[in-house]
Amino acid sequence: MAKALYNTIQDEIQALKAERNAVILAHNYQIGEIQDIADHLGDSLYLAQVVAQTDADVILFCGVHFMAETASILNPKKTVLMPDLEAGCSLADMVTAEDIQHWRQQYPNGIVVSYVNTSAAVKAQSDYCCTSSNAVKVVDSLPKDRPILFVPDFFLGSYVKAKTGRDIHLWQGYCPAHTVISAAHVDQLRAEHPQAEFLMHPECGCATKSMHLADQVLSTGGMIDYAKKSNAQEFIIATETGILHRMRKDNPSKTFIPASEQSVCGFMKKNTLEKMIWSLENMQYEVKVPQALAEKARLPIQRMLEIT
Ligand code: SF4
Repeated sequence: MAKALYNTIQDEIQALKAERNAVILAHNYQIGEIQDIADHLGDSLYLAQVVAQTDADVILFCGVHFMAETASILNPKKTVLMPDLEAGCSLADMVTAEDIQHWRQQYPNGIVVSYVNTSAAVKAQSDYCCTSSNAVKVVDSLPKDRPILFVPDFFLGSYVKAKTGRDIHLWQGYCPAHTVISAAHVDQLRAEHPQAEFLMHPECGCATKSMHLADQVLSTGGMIDYAKKSNAQEFIIATETGILHRMRKDNPSKTFIPASEQSVCGFMKKNTLEKMIWSLENMQYEVKVPQALAEKARLPIQRMLEIT
């Protein structure tokens, strides 16, 4: 049968989406065209909450692999698709399930809190999950007499340690797209834009030196909400530059300056509109976490969702 003709690639995606009863989820770091066509756009926590409630049969997840895994864990009966299976995460790859098992042996009384940027296998070895927007709240809720083993992001963990004063042991992982942001460059931008508010993601490598300089330390979702409410007209944004698309669209009269033009995640940028079409046409690439692993990995995620 001849293929239908569409005026735009976006029209074709919408038609395929209806045909498959699919919902399109996109992370704030996706390219602008994907953000614009997404049904739900947000940070990891928001997208996890959407996934837990969707009625769609198919979830097309435009983000990276651990996010699609989380969607599969929370919604095992749905078909979860990724436009490109190579959209991984350097930070998530910095810790394994075996690493956690060894670390636990050193601190048998420890509580393992894993950032959501981890594989399903690591989540299955964890007691609690957290995102950058709720990490402080999750750690604050845990028994005070037990040490916390925080994986994998050293900078987010350092931020949580400073905010909570808790006994936290830190894994030495980092996100290359965030650690490229240097404290010296932020200082220079602040001198050039004295009226600008400085919003920083806690994964930033400049966190330990510049945290005290940040007007706000926020998740990507927190940054988007804050920029809308603030009376400031100018902002320096320390996170992956994909977020600027939405901030500029939401606030056309305000100016957003990236803390580093180099803060670009190559994994997030692997997804394209064309790959979304192929994904919905061919039902590729499905991400399915095996049942036994999913059951173990679901527990720390559910504990997080209950706390938040
Ligand atoms: Fe992973 Fe960093 Fe890319 Fe996020 S921005 S997906 S933490 S590599």
